[in-house]
Amino acid sequence: MTTPHLIIIGASGDLTGRLLLPALYQLDVKRRLPPLRILGYALEEWTPKEFKQHVQASLRQHSQLYSDAGWEGFVSRLDYLSGDLSAEHLSALKERIHGDALFYLALPPSSFAEAARSLAEAGLVSEESGKRKLVIEKPFGHDLASALELNRGLRESWAEEQILRIDHYLGKETVQNLLVFRMANGFLEPLWNTQCIEQVQITVAETLGLEGRYRYYDGSGALRDMVQNHLMQLFTLIAMEPPPLWDSEVLREHKVEVLKSVRPIAVEEVPQIAVRGQYLAGVAGGQEVSGYLEEPNIPSTSTTETFAAVRLFVDNWRWRDVPFYLRSGKRLGKTYSEIAVKFRSPPRRPFNGTPSVAFGNNWLIFHLQPNESIDWIVSAKEPGLSMASRNVTLHTDYTNPGAQFSAYEQLLLDALGGDITHFLRFDEVEWAWRILDPVLAAWKKGKPDPYVAGTFGPKRQNELMLSGTWRNPL
Ligand code: NDP
Repeated sequence: MTTPHLIIIGASGDLTGRLLLPALYQLDVKRRLPPLRILGYALEEWTPKEFKQHVQASLRQHSQLYSDAGWEGFVSRLDYLSGDLSAEHLSALKERIHGDALFYLALPPSSFAEAARSLAEAGLVSEESGKRKLVIEKPFGHDLASALELNRGLRESWAEEQILRIDHYLGKETVQNLLVFRMANGFLEPLWNTQCIEQVQITVAETLGLEGRYRYYDGSGALRDMVQNHLMQLFTLIAMEPPPLWDSEVLREHKVEVLKSVRPIAVEEVPQIAVRGQYLAGVAGGQEVSGYLEEPNIPSTSTTETFAAVRLFVDNWRWRDVPFYLRSGKRLGKTYSEIAVKFRSPPRRPFNGTPSVAFGNNWLIFHLQPNESIDWIVSAKEPGLSMASRNVTLHTDYTNPGAQFSAYEQLLLDALGGDITHFLRFDEVEWAWRILDPVLAAWKKGKPDPYVAGTFGPKRQNELMLSGTWRNPL
């Protein structure tokens, strides 16, 4: 049997050096990487030896598991070819690849369609000698029209089943556990609806700023960079109907159904449904940081949002009138991601005349980072003689240092094994854009609300809440 190939096109870039190669190396060290040849392809006129030196330097910097022994085991898998994205250059790959091949486009999104077409022209897409797959990373377009256009370009030469769209949030342990927790436990399903749930808050907060990605970020902003993809995926996993079986197409169909059920947003109502912000100078992550408009290479007139929050409703029986609040921002007070489900209060609490006056609602919180854990916040009696109550947290730590795989390790392994469950089908991307396009249209005018770096975003985000407030960590 021939050894499968992973061809990384754009192998000199940041994604390859910081995330892809460390993930592949770590899988190898953990003895989980199947037989595989890894072929780097980029413009750099490196020899295979120079490429290997570059990879070794990246691994030293970005993999905590780096060791000389690990490297000796890994390096024999690597090879390199220099070339541009023309069919003429790419056709040189034909002599090297026999059997199954996965082409990973670690390229700027503007080059996806060109690379996909050239691979086809070079005769590398046909599956005569093995399976062929194409992996691409977000962003999948910058609005609905450009996403459709990109997809048209890819589909000229590749079948939908051959295209794996990565959203690395779907490779996270706790995100995958959402499905198991929701659908393998009988006690939750009767509660998982508008009768018992008052609202859902999804927050992905970062203390980080732009980390050098000025050009990309200023042309994108928080809604495109985080909400349209990662947060919308978390939202669909929370809101989807339980599928009848574990099948990638059935699962993805159920996710798309949620997106199709979202109440459409009219451009005129965006000010009541969405809030954007832009950070001012402040202290975030323990250090003094400058404001967005003072960042290098950011125009002083930029209206790019570094914080975005939206309120969505799912117009189906299960979720009638339950608000889903999604927000994400940079330079906030803490780096954390969570999905917080707030349950309705009981119809009556029969504790009149007792000190138990300050009951809170019950919450179920999926913490995605920094620690992967699940909390239930419930009311319980304060131990002692009186009937006083307090909130207690039932905490389940989900981290397991012995079995930890990064999202990229998980997704690369899935891609190599042909499991497409945790990759996006195009209609998921398309419907996420359909929902948010009116927000982008409205935000072409006006400016984001300012917020001081190190806080939790602009004050106006609270106006989105129909009841209660955002859960902010202490
Ligand atoms: P980089 O700009 O760091 O690297 C892109 C790679 O593409 C480089 O090897 C570059 O070669 C090559 N390249 C650029 N233009 C051409 C061209 N016209 N012809 C041939 N090769 C070209 O980008 P990233 O690695 O950061 O990102 C790659 C993809 O991954 C993008 O789609 C990005 O949005 C996505 N992504 C990146 C993340 C990250 O953390 N970096 C996270 C999530 C997604 P050269 O260096 O010689 O120009």
